Amino acid sequence: MRSEGSSIGFVPTMGALHDGHLALVRRAVRENDVTCVSVFVNPLQFDDPRDFERYPRDLARDARLVESAGAALVFTGTIADFFPEAQQRETIPRRDPGPAALGLEGALRPGHFAGVATIVERLFGIVRPSRAYFGEKDFQQTLVVRDLARSLGYPEIVVCPTSREEDGLARSSRNVLLSKDARARARALHDGLIAARQAWRAGERDPGRLAARLRERLIRRGIELEYAEIRDEARWTSGPPEPPLERPRALVAARIGGVRLIDNLSLSDPVEGVGWKAEQGT
Ligand code: AMP
Repeated sequence: MRSEGSSIGFVPTMGALHDGHLALVRRAVRENDVTCVSVFVNPLQFDDPRDFERYPRDLARDARLVESAGAALVFTGTIADFFPEAQQRETIPRRDPGPAALGLEGALRPGHFAGVATIVERLFGIVRPSRAYFGEKDFQQTLVVRDLARSLGYPEIVVCPTSREEDGLARSSRNVLLSKDARARARALHDGLIAARQAWRAGERDPGRLAARLRERLIRRGIELEYAEIRDEARWTSGPPEPPLERPRALVAARIGGVRLIDNLSLSDPVEGVGWKAEQGT
């Protein structure tokens, strides 16, 4: 496959694919000679064993979807296949995910980004992609993999916009675990992000007050927040950034009906995600 001069696009996933994943695959197909997709529920990045156990899996369906999106190859494996040199999972050396892992997801999920960086480095080593595609939905992860790619010297990291349902909820493999009631309440995450963006557009520049606008909506709808905060993309900090904000982003994580969901939104970008207009339904 790796013939001289042809480009390889790579989309790493944990499967249970939805339109958000497939948008990444289709873009990789457009931009590369061959596209390869991995489907692997990586145990190294789960801090909660129950979350790992109940993570949805359907490899046959995923393979069909990947094929119909035009990718040349889909592969999976076990942790022992990917790290044959390790005797046990515990002895796999973890890669330091760097400063982008500080705060938010990194603080709440100990070891998560080390697990991500470790498997992504190994998958890059197997596939040797020219370009790798990641979703903005996992914003902090895009910073971690960018730092990883920079230190490896490859591949080019392409960040794709968040794909959303009609009501604004970010597509996620975990959405199938939501009860009807939890699904209805989950739209509040995006509503909160839009409220923060409206505040930014109305001239609010204080990170604390922007975060308060974000939280207000969520708390009013009884959402159990893990965090709802503002960061500056231009300089990642583990805690709230000092003003002035250059490229403000609101980020949120919550448990709704026992399902952990995350989302984020740039407050200053004029447009947002695929197939969804930001101001719709607010
Ligand atoms: P996952 O299977 O959740 O590990 O996701 C695999 C890739 O798809 C990651 O780069 C995610 O950021 C990306 N992704 C997941 N959900 C979405 C979405 N709603 N929109 C865009 N990209 C997404």
